[in-house]
Amino acid sequence: MTAIQKKADNPIAHLTDDDVEAIGRELDLIREDVIASRGESDAAYIRAVITAQRRIELVSRGVLLFSLFPPAWVAGTAGLSISKILENMEIGHNVMHGQWDWMRDPTIHSTAWEWDNASPSSMWKHSHNQIHHTFTNVLGRDNDLGYGIMRVDEDQRWTSFYLAQPLWNALNACFFEYGIAAYDLEIGKVLKGKKDKAVFKDELSQVFAKVRQQGLRDYVVHPLLSGPSALPTLAANATANLVRNLWTHSVIMCGHFPEGVETFEKASIDGETRAEWYLRQMLGAANITGGRFLHLMTGNLSFQVEHHLFPDLPSNRYKEIAPKVKDLFDRNGLTYVEGSLPKQLFSAWKKVVRLSLPNGGISAVLSSATRKATSVAPTPIVRLVGAEAPQAVAA
Ligand SMILES: [Zn+2]
Repeated sequence: MTAIQKKADNPIAHLTDDDVEAIGRELDLIREDVIASRGESDAAYIRAVITAQRRIELVSRGVLLFSLFPPAWVAGTAGLSISKILENMEIGHNVMHGQWDWMRDPTIHSTAWEWDNASPSSMWKHSHNQIHHTFTNVLGRDNDLGYGIMRVDEDQRWTSFYLAQPLWNALNACFFEYGIAAYDLEIGKVLKGKKDKAVFKDELSQVFAKVRQQGLRDYVVHPLLSGPSALPTLAANATANLVRNLWTHSVIMCGHFPEGVETFEKASIDGETRAEWYLRQMLGAANITGGRFLHLMTGNLSFQVEHHLFPDLPSNRYKEIAPKVKDLFDRNGLTYVEGSLPKQLFSAWKKVVRLSLPNGGISAVLSSATRKATSVAPTPIVRLVGAEAPQAVAA
């Protein structure tokens, strides 16, 4: 993988400006169709998921009162893990995108929703909805590509710091919600003195308040309620939080990291049209194939391509529009990246390991000290369309 602007075989060079605008118009129509047909069955869907999640959590926490008995511990922990994943993925992420705002239900609304995550909803909505979804896979702009601590592209200069990135990535997976909170706090900007200190202090106190609230519930109140089962309940809550962290991290890696997903140079989005933005979303996301349960547990982010094209459409409709989107890819000679969870996860981790080494692999590590970053001006995505592919540049 390398930024699309530097690829010898540019995958969109065959498209003319008119082709791209036509793709944009088709996608607008798909979107309008869903908006026109949104209704009671969609509302019933999200209400049913929220009710089911709350019941699963209640029953699981009830079972954990007796978690001194191993079968109760296993059942309660499994239930609580499922409930926490549903709460973050199919409910929290999607409600905060505004996917259900059209229902005008003040209790299921992006402006009112708070979730079980270290990152307060107001901060997360800014970094996810506004930054990640706008600047998807743009190197240096979309920190979802690695939360600022990962080398995610051959064109990114290698330093010995990245040798440990498989370890950083594994640690980030275990403590993912705290990683997200740190990312939302823009700690990198704070360290460089580029963020207002008063704003940072205020946001930091909000994060601490959330972490304290979560910690009190999962590690103090519920264990104490369990009496003799206090310690097993505490362990169950910690396990459920770990399971959710590992799961959400895996789903997100599968959405943007597998081989075949494109990245883009920072200056390439200058003057980007709506259709070009759509095209970048098509090329910058990957789907996970699987059954209904998998789609539900990923918050329908298994349809990451469709989610990135239409982040505010109800998640239960992505499955229905996916064949139309895929057909659009096929007709325009574009690659719709999809695969099973194990396949995509393996592909993403393989890339993390590969990019932890300099381009050229282990033999290049020794000579890396003298390696310099390339300094070729990026080509706007618009100029790549319908143009001869640029010369490949060795990074
Ligand atoms: Zn999203």
